[in-house]
Amino acid sequence: MSGVAKAHANRRNSVVQAVAEVSALLGDRLSTSDAVREQHGNDLTWNPGAAPDAVAFVNNTEEVQKVVQICSKYESPLIPFGTGTSLEGHIAALQGGICIDVSQMNNIIEVNAEDLDCRVEAGVTRKMLNTHLRDTGLFFPIDPGADASIGGMAATRASGTNAVRYGTMRENVMSLTAVMPNGAIVKTASRAKKSSAGYDLTRLLVGSEGTLGVITEVGLRLFGIPESITAAVCPFETVDQCCQATIMAIQIGLPIARIELIDEENIKAINVYSKMNLAEKPTLFLEFHGTPLSTKEQAETFSEIAADLNGGPFEWATLEEDRNRLWKARHDAFWATKAMFPEKERFSTDVCVPISRLAECVAETRADLEQNNVFGPIIGHVGDGNFHVILFCDRSDQEEYKRVMGVYERLVLRAIAMDGTCTGEHGVGTGKMKFLEAEHGEGLNVMRTLKKAIDPLNIMNPGKIVSL
Ligand SMILES: Cc1cc2nc3c(=O)[nH]c(=O)nc-3n(C[C@H](O)[C@H](O)[C@H](O)COP(=O)(O)OP(=O)(O)OC[C@H]3O[C@@H](n4cnc5c(N)ncnc54)[C@H](O)[C@@H]3O)c2cc1C
Repeated sequence: MSGVAKAHANRRNSVVQAVAEVSALLGDRLSTSDAVREQHGNDLTWNPGAAPDAVAFVNNTEEVQKVVQICSKYESPLIPFGTGTSLEGHIAALQGGICIDVSQMNNIIEVNAEDLDCRVEAGVTRKMLNTHLRDTGLFFPIDPGADASIGGMAATRASGTNAVRYGTMRENVMSLTAVMPNGAIVKTASRAKKSSAGYDLTRLLVGSEGTLGVITEVGLRLFGIPESITAAVCPFETVDQCCQATIMAIQIGLPIARIELIDEENIKAINVYSKMNLAEKPTLFLEFHGTPLSTKEQAETFSEIAADLNGGPFEWATLEEDRNRLWKARHDAFWATKAMFPEKERFSTDVCVPISRLAECVAETRADLEQNNVFGPIIGHVGDGNFHVILFCDRSDQEEYKRVMGVYERLVLRAIAMDGTCTGEHGVGTGKMKFLEAEHGEGLNVMRTLKKAIDPLNIMNPGKIVSL
């Protein structure tokens, strides 16, 4: 047997021993069923998936600690799991091992209404939290399209449609409790609004994608539900006009809460899927938060910007029911596009550029799509300079696959060349690893050094973010 084969066989043997010991700890809360393993190792994209050897459904931080200690003892890989909605191959168990599913850790530990903060277990989803908060007059604004877990959202540094006003998980996670690869339980910060006490471990773990620790509790900032909320849709003749209107609104400091671009292909898909009747043109979906007077002023200012760019008609929705219908349609855009080509695989890419480069980046990307005959609706949280291209492909058609991948790689490198990033919110997983050197240069080596120092056995979600 070769050295590599021997090492592989040893690791397999260690995983089997780790699974047996975790099974003795959790009983029937450790699953080795094929269906459960497959579901926990594959995402919705064409990034390669891989099933873990077993899935551990944990109930509390101490149980996570015990599972991590067992994995550490046997040097078995472990992959933290929230709701499995990530899009870059994050949850694939590339080297097998144990998936730690925290979805049953779904208690809301405390809500401190006077301090506008709360603490939740990692498996609480964003919708669960907002349902719980409904009667307090507070809400948690970060809304990735899926009903993701707060732990997973912290681990991917997620954002969504509200980020332009309220920030991303980077700004809204105040502290974390995490089990580190050596089994230590660490609380990264207090509830103080600011602190200069040492290295910022919260920010280190936010965005670490399960490679540095298993997050078990999250302290979050909350916001008062605005007195007045106005939603609007505004079609334009071109995507470029949508981008120009967004840039102007941001540059004049309009405190817009949401500003989302949906191109005409996506609008067509939404009309069919969500039974809407929107003008089939590139459209901005907007929302304004504040007092009745301030939201009216914001909306009027935006409608003037839109009119200068020949946009409109600018249509408002103040009734909660109408607003919810509009935003549900926006959040369902991903599924709406899938329904257009059910037979093809699809893949949602994610880049982000400084707002002043947004129009240029989108225009060059659309030209590239057209020149290469690739269908790729564009949808974006454009107020942040963040947009997605949803690419469709029949991967058995090598020629098509090559064209699609060409467009995809040029898009990512274009964003980086504009001083942007290869991912504004979806994260690295395996899909974006190859672009990190272009984006971070020597910084990637610092990330490698950190990973090796914190997880010397490389047991936590190995093969993600940095290759060792
Ligand atoms: C239709 C759709 C729309 C989406 N829209 C957006 C969007 O607008 N914005 C956005 O940011 N994302 C979006 N996403 C992507 C996805 O919802 C986010 O990445 C989300 O944050 C993932 O959370 P999750 O609970 O599903 O994590 P998972 O997919 O379970 O895990 C993601 C990563 O985090 C790690 N992880 C999970 N839980 C923990 C934990 N407790 N401790 C440590 N590591 C952990 C995993 O190991 C993995 O690496 C969308 C996805 C879909 C399907």
